Amino acid sequence: MVRELSHYVGGQHVDGTSGRFADVYDPCAGQVQARVPLASSDEVRNVVAAAEKAQPEWGAMNPQRRARILLKFVDLVNRDLDELAALLSSEHGKTLADARGDIQRGVEVVEFAAGAPHLLKGEFSDSAGAGIDVHSMRQPLGVVAGITPFNFPAMIPLWKAGPALAAGNSFVLKPSERDPSVPLRLAELFTEAGLPDGVFNVVNGDKEAVDALLEDPRVQAVGFVGSTPIAQYIYATAAAHGKRAQCFGGAKNHMVIMPDADLDMAADALIGAGYGSAGERCMAISVAVPVGKATADALVARLRERIAGLKVGHSLAKDSDFGPVVAASAKERIEGYIQSGVDAGATLVEDGRGLTVDGCEGGFWVGPTLFDNVTKDMAIYREEIFGPVLSVLRAEDYDEALRLCSEHEFGNGVAIFTRDGDSARDFASRVQVGMVGINVPIPVPIAYYTFGGWKASGFGDLNQHGADAFRFYTKTKTVTTRWPSGIRTGASFVMPEGS
Ligand code: NAD
Repeated sequence: MVRELSHYVGGQHVDGTSGRFADVYDPCAGQVQARVPLASSDEVRNVVAAAEKAQPEWGAMNPQRRARILLKFVDLVNRDLDELAALLSSEHGKTLADARGDIQRGVEVVEFAAGAPHLLKGEFSDSAGAGIDVHSMRQPLGVVAGITPFNFPAMIPLWKAGPALAAGNSFVLKPSERDPSVPLRLAELFTEAGLPDGVFNVVNGDKEAVDALLEDPRVQAVGFVGSTPIAQYIYATAAAHGKRAQCFGGAKNHMVIMPDADLDMAADALIGAGYGSAGERCMAISVAVPVGKATADALVARLRERIAGLKVGHSLAKDSDFGPVVAASAKERIEGYIQSGVDAGATLVEDGRGLTVDGCEGGFWVGPTLFDNVTKDMAIYREEIFGPVLSVLRAEDYDEALRLCSEHEFGNGVAIFTRDGDSARDFASRVQVGMVGINVPIPVPIAYYTFGGWKASGFGDLNQHGADAFRFYTKTKTVTTRWPSGIRTGASFVMPEGS
């Protein structure tokens, strides 16, 4: 039976009224399992109105009380972790263990955000002038919106909502229309945790809903994660409407393998980071850059051995290494890239096309695919594929490898595998990429550091989570104070100076 989903507004589920819907698939079966309503502009305006109504009281609550509600929410998510992971897996197609990780990495940011009483502290300067004190305070922006991608339906909404709510804002989430059920369950859990109605809302939709959020003057800030063209569009449109925006886009993450690396460790890391979650992670490694012919030959041999042992299967099966890709259109796009690599002359070492899984014949399957002898000009190197496709681009020396990573259009994550501290240190310092792993293939920073890519992977000057999140979701007010018992100067007609 096809379930009909809703929006979540003012602490309750609200049916869609636009008459427009999108299908939500079970990617293992390739069949529609639910319909999600696509909000009209009017419906979005109603959601923003609910958020606007709720915000002043929430923003005025002391931050410790807000934090307690967030911690209660964390308890509830942990209570329902198995159910949430199964739901997430059923719409996304990632394995259960991976779905738990998705939720867990989101929860970690909510736990971090519960430190809001400390993170919201302002500064104070005694006697900044004669009899004058100066202090600053951080205040919530008001209503803020999050627009999030399909590939982390729990983690990324929580990366945005955790700090935004802790800072006293109300939140409107527009999740991906491909897997909206977990965001709706999170909204229910916020209500159960005691979050006042209207402080966290979910509006489902497509471009019409996004544009309505971007154009609404009551929305003060927009946090976006998704593909680069949409990130650029949202950044520019939000700015044109006077909003604060941080927009994170696509990626092409390289892993450099130095001749002195532990090659078994590097090969294991590449298999997990390249094919885990069917390559549908913004921090997936999609390009391996072995340095020197001997390293490359030995690495490719190890990758082949490991690929032969991989199990692609139903996302709920315990022995699956990864599941299907999210949609038929994603499968088609990925297979198109594989053909383009073949046509461009790359060596197709392992071909993931044509995979079938017993009992799941209609699913959106793409097996692990490996290209060798990839060159810089090929589309499979230049563009984001977002599937289980790993390209090997052989570099002659370290300088060439460093240049490749730095010159690529995207700059999200990068890794180097080596035993040599000098190369690792030089690489971390000089590479033009936002997040670096040293013998760590997916260097997603921990909640109390910040997450953000460079170049075409990120637009805006503040990152997600860590201290930046509180800067993004607050505005700073600076107060200069003098009391009547302080020094009297009489009327002054010159610009006051610090000295
Ligand atoms: P997407 O860009 O298609 O969609 C992201 C969001 O934008 C969704 O909510 C979607 O409804 C909305 N959207 C789509 N088209 C739109 C349009 N024309 N106008 C307005 N809104 C629109 O991305 P996706 O396929 O859901 O996610 C995969 C992408 O996200 C990949 O490129 C991946 O690299 C990227 N990603 C980046 C990060 C990061 O931190 N840099 C993290 C996760 C995913």
